[in-house]
Amino acid sequence: MRKRVSWLKILLFTTLVLLAAGIGFGVPLGIKISRRNTIENLGYSREFAEYILKQDMYETVRDLGFNETLGKILMAPEYQVNHYEDYLQINYHEINNFLPLTNAFLDKKYAPDDINFIFERFSESEITLLSEREHIDHLQDYFAKSYARLKDLDRYLAIEGDIQEAVYEVANNLDLPEYEADETRSSFSIDMLVNKNYAVSEDFEPENLVDAGNGYRLNQEAFEAFKEMQAAAKAEGLIFEINSAYRSVAEQQSVFNAQCAQYGQAYCESHVAKPGFSEHHTGLALDVKTPHNGTFAYSKEFTWLKEHAQEYGFIWRYQESQEKYSRFAEEAWHYRYVGKELAQQVKDSGLSYDEYYITLLEASN
Ligand SMILES: [Zn+2]
Repeated sequence: MRKRVSWLKILLFTTLVLLAAGIGFGVPLGIKISRRNTIENLGYSREFAEYILKQDMYETVRDLGFNETLGKILMAPEYQVNHYEDYLQINYHEINNFLPLTNAFLDKKYAPDDINFIFERFSESEITLLSEREHIDHLQDYFAKSYARLKDLDRYLAIEGDIQEAVYEVANNLDLPEYEADETRSSFSIDMLVNKNYAVSEDFEPENLVDAGNGYRLNQEAFEAFKEMQAAAKAEGLIFEINSAYRSVAEQQSVFNAQCAQYGQAYCESHVAKPGFSEHHTGLALDVKTPHNGTFAYSKEFTWLKEHAQEYGFIWRYQESQEKYSRFAEEAWHYRYVGKELAQQVKDSGLSYDEYYITLLEASN
């Protein structure tokens, strides 16, 4: 009997101690540890789990599951309780100042969906610049296309009307006068774009120039392709030959001056590229002529080239329907080598090479 009483005493004492512990710490230690484990198992840090218990947010976080942004922001000095629901919808990004930037965008009334788009779409420095601007309405529409660039935002905003059209126009520099964009290239590539807004630098040198006969020079690959094309046409009784090929910047200057002197400023400015802005600088462009008299645009050779040039890697570069983008009047005689695959794709697209390069090639690089 004495023994049983003593066991009861011990049991009573232990219960009292546990109760005291429970009252003292709010939640009994055992439950606390199990809750901490639950939160940690969701993917949060131990520090965060302990913080959650102290803040009495156990059930909220348990029901929410793992949210990386919450895990980063809740204990940070940047945490703003009024943005709690927004934080939950914003994907965490490993960039400097993620939290202050997030707050800056929320304060500017960007929706969480816009903020996710911003972090996905732009570089760190662009994000910082954007966070310092006023709220931009329809931001996602402006930057839906990969060729849209944040540095052009003010140019987009300056154009009224359809947003997609404004972005396309600016991408193609149509909002700028000719020769005023700052796209100057000094390195050569087969697909390079040269037009009235994409110049080559003064020290630009095309690669692999070879003698193409009669004093003309062309890029070797382009010349091989031209000879192949010429032979295929000849088999059908059609004759054309090179009338102009590579021109240095200095040579272009004299062509430009001569044409201006002969035909007047207006004519030469619309028909002859200013030095630095001519495709002939690349060694990839050539003009053709037929030995017989008559306008090339009415020749059988032109009809054949329009249909077949792309099979040899050439595109008919200046077409009337594309003048808005090429900013050149139609030239039946001018062809540009870009390689067979690309030439076919450009032709199939129905776009000018200017548009194709800017909206599809350059944007994907
Ligand atoms: Zn030409």
